[in-house]
Amino acid sequence: MPTEPEQTLPRVCDYEGSDYQTRFWDEADRAYEDQVEAIALKRLLPSGGSLMLEVGAGAGRNTPRYQGFERVVLMDYSLTQLQQAQERLGRGDRFIYVAADVYRLPFVAGLFDAATMIRVLHHMEDAPRALTQIREALQTEAIFILEFANKLNLKAILRYFTRRQDWSPFSLEPIEFIDMNFNFHPKAVRQTLKRLDFKIERQLAASYFRLDAIKRMAPLRLLVGFDSLLQYTGGLFQFSPSVFVRSLATGGSSGVKGGAFFRCPACRKALPGMGNGYLACGACGSRWGIEDGIYNFKKPIGDL
Ligand SMILES: [Zn+2]
Repeated sequence: MPTEPEQTLPRVCDYEGSDYQTRFWDEADRAYEDQVEAIALKRLLPSGGSLMLEVGAGAGRNTPRYQGFERVVLMDYSLTQLQQAQERLGRGDRFIYVAADVYRLPFVAGLFDAATMIRVLHHMEDAPRALTQIREALQTEAIFILEFANKLNLKAILRYFTRRQDWSPFSLEPIEFIDMNFNFHPKAVRQTLKRLDFKIERQLAASYFRLDAIKRMAPLRLLVGFDSLLQYTGGLFQFSPSVFVRSLATGGSSGVKGGAFFRCPACRKALPGMGNGYLACGACGSRWGIEDGIYNFKKPIGDL
C-alpha cells in the first residue's frame, strides 16, 4: 500500500522564477487596477502599528503603502518574487523577507497586529485553511484586510443570464475558472471570516471598470475617480470583480511568549530568535535556511 503523507496540503500557486511583476504590472496597462487598489487600501489601513504581515507580498508592489507600520513581514511562496521585492525596498531592519507556504505559516501565534492579503486568495485552493493560519498569527484586535476576486460580478451575472457561461455566479462555492485561479462569493467569504472569529468592519467594491474596452475609451483619472466613489457601495452590495474586506480579529489569541517570532512549520514549536545561516528547531530537528536576507521556510535544509 502506498504510504500517505502525514498531512496532505493543498496545492500552491507557484510564481517561482516568474516575471509576473514585469509582465502583469509594469508592462501591461494595469494603472487603473493599481490606483483603485491604492485608494481602497488607504481607506482601510489603520493609521499605524508595530508589525504587519503581508501575505503574498510578491515583488512588494503594495508594501510602500504600509508606511504607518514599524516593521513589515513580506511573505511569499516565491523566493524570486521576494528577491525582486528586496531590490525594490532594500534590506533595512524595517522589512523582513519570508518564503513560506500559507498553509504552514512559520510565525508564532498572536504575533502580528495587522495583516493584508491582496490578490492572493484568488490562488487558494483551500481558502478557509489559509485564513485559519492567518487568524492564528494575529493578535486579538488585529486588523485584517482581505481582497478577493468576486464570482458575483456584473460580467459573470450577464454572461450567465445570456447563457455564455454555465456556472452560476449566485452559488456559494468558489469557481476555478482557470487552473489554480478561484473566484469567491462574497457571502461565503464573510461566513468563513466570521467562523474564524473575524468581525467584519467594512467592505469596499473595487475595479468596476476592469474591462479593456472601457479602459481604452475613458481617461484613467475619470475611471479612478468614479471607482473611488463606487467603492463605498461595497457596504451595501458587491457586484464588482474585486472586493476588499476589513475585519477585526476577535476571540482569544494565545499571545506571544518569550519574544519568539518564528515557529517551525513542520512541528509548530517556537524557533529560537532570528539568527544567521539557519534556524534550528529544538523539537523536531528541522533546520530552516536564511540566505541573502530571506528566511526560507519552504523546505528544511539537509544535514550539514
Ligand atoms: Zn520542528
